[in-house]
Amino acid sequence: MLQQTQMETALPYFRRWMRHFPTIESVAKADPKAVLKAWQGLGYYSRARNLQETAKKILDVHGGVFPQKFEDILSLKGVGRYTAGAIASIAFNQDRPIVDGNVLRVLSRLYAIKKPIDLEKNKEYFWKLEDSLIPKGRARDFNQALMELGALVCLPQDPRCSACPVRNSCEALKREETERYPVRAKKRKKILVQAASLVLSKEGRFFIRRRPEGKIMGGLWEFPEWKLSFDRELPAHVIEKKVYDLALKEFGSSLSKPKNLGKIKRHYTHHQETLWLFRSRLEGLEKAPAKNSWPRAWATEDDFERYPFSSAHAKIAALVESSAL
Ligand code: SF4
Repeated sequence: MLQQTQMETALPYFRRWMRHFPTIESVAKADPKAVLKAWQGLGYYSRARNLQETAKKILDVHGGVFPQKFEDILSLKGVGRYTAGAIASIAFNQDRPIVDGNVLRVLSRLYAIKKPIDLEKNKEYFWKLEDSLIPKGRARDFNQALMELGALVCLPQDPRCSACPVRNSCEALKREETERYPVRAKKRKKILVQAASLVLSKEGRFFIRRRPEGKIMGGLWEFPEWKLSFDRELPAHVIEKKVYDLALKEFGSSLSKPKNLGKIKRHYTHHQETLWLFRSRLEGLEKAPAKNSWPRAWATEDDFERYPFSSAHAKIAALVESSAL
């Protein structure tokens, strides 16, 4: 849960998760839909699926006991070098390094390292450096201290150097250049995406569909959604026409003209998306679904809580429930 998510944000989700799934066995044997539902709101849903895979493996291969051997931890689904290092050092006090954004910043400043921290080729350098600094047998305290130093003292803007316990050894401070570190390569420009989603109703029920496994947000439910353009702003009337055409093609001619309800923003690592919301009704028969169409359902508002939605679509479902749409 803490990958890409801050502690305060994750805590309520963690508590809810533990109420649903208090043991490894309960995660392993749960309905995958219930696992996704319990994860709803945290995003990056592959983590929830990996967690269940991992629980199954621990049950089948390790007799239900979390493995302690570093290679075994690393072989668990969704566990990479960082998470394995965190578990090995913090849970089992093994001398294994962890390098996160906080650690990168602290090390960059402490040693005035000019290597950009966001270039893949420099990753190894920072991992080796952190590894070489661990006092033998004290990785648990050392790794946590280094991360906390970055989170609480060596802040991205305005580091609190006067309160810093390592200020006497800090090269960036000595050179009065703390703001120059960490060094980054040029920022990658985000792709601007225009998308649209349709709240389609029929006799008090709403059309939703399940994204296929293997696709982004696979296994999650959504109101029908279409990507309309990449890196190109479209005027509202063009968006409205595109949505009407796409909806007619998918649901048939008994569809009322979609009403434009405004837009919400979605932010991804490499994309910045504007999601336009539309509402429409089916006033007659629905066109038969195409052969390869995704699993679908007509759900009432009360049904929504049984379906795991992605964050944006959970927001849309909440708007429908509150009659705001
Ligand atoms: Fe960071 Fe300042 Fe401490 Fe250096 S002295 S590690 S820049 S907080």
